[in-house]
Amino acid sequence: LVQSTSRIQEQLEAWVEDNKGHAVLGTTAQYIPALGKEDPSQLGICMVDDDGNYYCAGDTDKEFTLQSISKALTFIALSCHYGLEFVLERVDVEPTGEAFNSIIPFEIHRPNKPFNPFINAGAITISALLPGQTGQKKYEFLLHFLEELVGHPLELDKEVYDSEWQSSHRNRALAYYLKEAKFLEIEVEEALDIYIRQCAIKVSTRDLALIGLIIAYDGFNPITKVKHFSEEIAQVAKVLMVTCGMYNSSGNFAAHVGIPAKSGVSGGIMAAVPPKLHSQTYEFRAGAGIGVYGPAIDVQGNSAAGTMMLRQISKEWDLSIF
Ligand code: GLN
Repeated sequence: LVQSTSRIQEQLEAWVEDNKGHAVLGTTAQYIPALGKEDPSQLGICMVDDDGNYYCAGDTDKEFTLQSISKALTFIALSCHYGLEFVLERVDVEPTGEAFNSIIPFEIHRPNKPFNPFINAGAITISALLPGQTGQKKYEFLLHFLEELVGHPLELDKEVYDSEWQSSHRNRALAYYLKEAKFLEIEVEEALDIYIRQCAIKVSTRDLALIGLIIAYDGFNPITKVKHFSEEIAQVAKVLMVTCGMYNSSGNFAAHVGIPAKSGVSGGIMAAVPPKLHSQTYEFRAGAGIGVYGPAIDVQGNSAAGTMMLRQISKEWDLSIF
């Protein structure tokens, strides 16, 4: 590390303060009532380096649900089990330019597979493919994979699950489209259930930071020295994070932050900062993982304050990969 650990901590605390106010640029996800009632002013960040030092500032005790961050993790878990080729035969790696839950790409283009695993159509398709004879088994496969990554048991947020299940009319419609296009081998309701369950897994910014670090290290955990998945899977996961990870702000996020990241409508962001050994000003030359929580989301569905904070951090610490 270039600077002392206390200096890093102080800077993160200052940047949380600087960016808290940006929460007014968004609102909590109203279409999922349990998320809608969160306090929009929260903002927290956790960073972990390759030595396992954690730097956390702001509202970091809070647990929240993965939401769309789970899409990146299902993609990795499924690719690990069946191989990347199997997964890429069933879902593409093209951004759509439409909202994450849009039906338009489907209706207009009639693709022979969903455009990417980070839009809901692609995510529901690949969740349904998780190994296991029943929905419960498929969900448990993913859950165990995630528990291996974070190193502790994880739980479902039942309230968020119920809330989304009752209000998921659009996702249900999308799932019917998928069924009609023969992308779903299991029943619509079952596929939807697995997807909504994975979205409702509870995590902390610490957990997201650690998973981000493992992705940054191409599937290797530099702290425990465990290899969780292959370089080729990590590479495609990072490509997806850069091109589709922040929905329709992915281009802007790449330009102003430049870190592979995946967001969710709960206000979480998981970012993978790859090693960048040649940088002069880089604080985390050996790579890092970042977890952010800020439940007020912008129109694209990304944490408003969280995105602005990452912009500042990336600029100050020269974290962009580009
Ligand atoms: N569960 C959410 C949904 O399907 C996830 C979306 C998101 O985080 N962008 O609407």
